[in-house]
Amino acid sequence: MNLLETPIEYLKGVGPQRGDLLRKELNIHKYGDLINLYPNRYIDRTRYFKINQLVNSNSEVQIIGKIVHIKTVEQGKGKSRLVATFMDDTGQMELVWFQGIKWIKESLKLNTVLVVFGKVTQFGSVFNMAHPEMELLEEHKTALRSAMQPVYPSTEKLNNKGVNNKVINKMMMQLFSETHALFSETLPTSIIEELKLISKKDALINVHFPKNQELLAKAQFRLKFEELFFIQLQLITKNLIRKHKIKGFPFEIIGENFTNFYNNHLPFELTNAQKRVLKEIRNDLGSNAQMNRLLQGDVGSGKTIVALMCMLIAKDNDFQSCLMAPTEILANQHFNGISELAKELNINIRLLTGSTKTAERRIIHEELENGTLDIIIGTHALIEDKVQFKNLGLAVIDEQHRFGVEQRSKLWAKASPSPSNDGASVPPHVLVMTATPIPRTLAMSLYGDLDVSVIDELPPGRKPIQTVHRFDSKRLMVWKFLKDEIAKGRQVYIVYPLIQESEKMDYKDLMDGYESISRDFPLPQYSISILHGKMKPADKDEEMKRFAEGKTNIMVATTVIEVGVNVPNASVMVIESAERFGLSQLHQLRGRVGRGAEQSYCILMTDYKLSEDSKTRMETMVRTNDGFEIAEVDLKLRGPGDIMGKQQSGVLNLQIADLVKDRDILQHARHLAIKLLKEDPSMDKPEHAKLKEAFLEISKKKSIWNYIS
Ligand code: ADP
Ligand code: MG
Repeated sequence: MNLLETPIEYLKGVGPQRGDLLRKELNIHKYGDLINLYPNRYIDRTRYFKINQLVNSNSEVQIIGKIVHIKTVEQGKGKSRLVATFMDDTGQMELVWFQGIKWIKESLKLNTVLVVFGKVTQFGSVFNMAHPEMELLEEHKTALRSAMQPVYPSTEKLNNKGVNNKVINKMMMQLFSETHALFSETLPTSIIEELKLISKKDALINVHFPKNQELLAKAQFRLKFEELFFIQLQLITKNLIRKHKIKGFPFEIIGENFTNFYNNHLPFELTNAQKRVLKEIRNDLGSNAQMNRLLQGDVGSGKTIVALMCMLIAKDNDFQSCLMAPTEILANQHFNGISELAKELNINIRLLTGSTKTAERRIIHEELENGTLDIIIGTHALIEDKVQFKNLGLAVIDEQHRFGVEQRSKLWAKASPSPSNDGASVPPHVLVMTATPIPRTLAMSLYGDLDVSVIDELPPGRKPIQTVHRFDSKRLMVWKFLKDEIAKGRQVYIVYPLIQESEKMDYKDLMDGYESISRDFPLPQYSISILHGKMKPADKDEEMKRFAEGKTNIMVATTVIEVGVNVPNASVMVIESAERFGLSQLHQLRGRVGRGAEQSYCILMTDYKLSEDSKTRMETMVRTNDGFEIAEVDLKLRGPGDIMGKQQSGVLNLQIADLVKDRDILQHARHLAIKLLKEDPSMDKPEHAKLKEAFLEISKKKSIWNYIS
C-alpha cells in the first residue's frame, strides 16, 4: 500500500485526538495530506533579539532569557490568565497564556535559560508575547536551524490545543523520516526537462526544510506549476468530455431571419470584435456539441446585438430562445431595445417579469408551449417551473454575476427531448454575458466549463468618459457643473450607495440626499426622479421611463441602476460616498454615461479620510476607462475569492499557487496541458503513466467545476 494513504493518527506524535483536530481544522486525513500542507511563509530563526531592541511591529521574534516570576491574574467571569516575567540582560517583558494555564504553569521552569519565540505586542511600556513557543537553550542549540523556518497555516483551535507551529514542524519531520521521503515523480520527463524543474522529492524536501533561498524558490515553482498543471488537465479533459458527450442542437442553418437582419436592418456596422465573437458563437452553435460560452465585453461594447443575432440563428433553426436579465428595469430595456431592432422581422417577442399580468402570463405560457413564441425576455420569472418551452434552443443570460450557479442550472434543466438524441433531453445552448471583465486566464480557471469570447473594442466615435475625484467640500462647485450640463440639455445621475437594500441607514442617506438635491435644484426649473429598491416595480419603471424620455433632469438612485440601463442623453454620473463602492461597481455605474455623442463625465465624491485601498480605487477610476485594467487592479486589491464569491473560488482550493501572483505559471501550465492532451488525449502513452496515475488520484479527491450539470 502507498504509505501516503496511511491515516494521519498513525503518525508518531499524532494519535487519535490530534488526528481528529487535524481532520477538522485543516482537512488533513492522511500522510499525503500533511505533505501537501505547505508553509505560508518562512521566518529567520538564526536571528535573536534583545528585549531593548523590540519595537511594536507585531512581528515574530526570538529572544534568549529567563523566566523570573509567574503569576495568575483573574480576569473576571471565572477566567484568568497566566503571566510570566521574562528577562534578559537588557530588560524585561511578559509572556502571557490564556489557555491551558494549569498545564503550562506546571511545565514552566524558573531561572532556566530559554529561547522564546512569537509575536510581540506592546501594552503601555511593556512588551508581551502571547502563547510563545519555548525551548531550553541547550535543546535549541542542538536543533537544526535554518534561516528559513516554515510557518504553517493554522487555526486558533489548533494553537489552543497545543498543536502549534513547532508541533506541526515536528510532525513533518516525523513524516519524512517514516516515509524515507520516498515521493515518486508525477510529471513527465519532457516537461521536467523543458521547464528545468527539480524532482518532486527535492521539491517537497525543500518546501518543508529549505536548504537555501534558491532551492526554496525552485521547490515553490515546481509545486505551484504542478498544482496548476493538474487543474488545467482536469479542466481541459472535462471540457473535451462535455463537447464529446453532451449533445447540443446543431443550428446548421443561417437562414432568412439572420440574413435579412444582417443585410438590411443592422443599425450600424458591427465592430471587428463583435464580428469575431459572432463567428466564434456560430461555430459552436453549428457543431453537435452544446455551447456553454461566456461573452465578456466592457460596458457599452455592444453585447445586446450579438445576443439578438444568436437568437435569430435559433429562430432560423426553428428553436425558441430566452434572454434572462437580473432586474426588471434591465429586462424591460432589453425588451424595448430588441423589439425595436427586430421590428422589421416577423418574430414574436414577449416580456415576462414578476409584474406581468395574469392574462398576459397565460398567453405567454401557452405560446411558449405551442411554439409560437420565438423570443422570451425576462427576469427570474423565466426559470419558474410553470414556464415550459416547446423547444428551447438557446438561453442567453445577461450580467452573469448577478445570477448564481443554481439559476444557470435551472435554465439548463429546461431541456427538450430530441429525436436526434434518441429522445433523450438535449440542453439548450447557453450564452452568458458579463460586463465584469476578468482577466482571461483567470476566467478560464474559474469558469472552467465555459469557453470564453471577448469583445475588446468599443463602437467607434465614443468619447472616453472623463472621471474626476472630488471631496465633499467641493460640492458647490460640482452642483454648479451639473447645472451647466443641464442647461446644455444633458441629464445627470446621482447615485447613493445602498449596498444592501435593507439597510435603513443607507436608505436614510438616499432620502436625505434627495431632499437636499431637491432644495438645490428647485422646481419648476429642475425636475428630479428617484429610484430605489423599495419602490414597486411599476413605479420604478415609470420613473425610469420619465427619465429616459427626458422629462426629468436628474435621476437620484441607488445601485439598482448599476447594470445595463441605457439613457444616451445622460452625460454626468455623480457617485456619492464613492469610497464605499468596489471597483467593478464603480466601473459599472460609470458605464451608464458615455452612451451618446456628447462628452460625458463621472464625478467620484468622497470624504477626506480615505483608506489606502479606497485611494487606489479612486486613482484607478480616474486613470483609466479600460474595464480589463480595472479588473486587474480589483483582483490585486481583493483577490479572486472575493470577486467570484466564495462558492466559485473555493472550489479551487489551491494549496500553494495563487491565481493572481502566479498568473505566468498558470499560463505555462495551461499551454503545456493543452499541448500534452493534444498529443495524448487520454494520457495512455507509457511516458505518461505516472502522470495519469497522479491525475486520477487528484481527480478523485477534488472534483471541480461542476457548476451546471
Ligand atoms: P453592453 O455590452 O454594455 O450590453 P449594449 O449592447 O447595450 O452594450 O450597447 C451599447 C450601445 O452601443 C447601444 O446603444 C448600442 O446600440 C450601441 N452599439 C452596439 N454596437 C455598436 C456598433 N457596432 N456601432 C455603434 N453602436 C453600437
Ligand atoms: Mg448590456
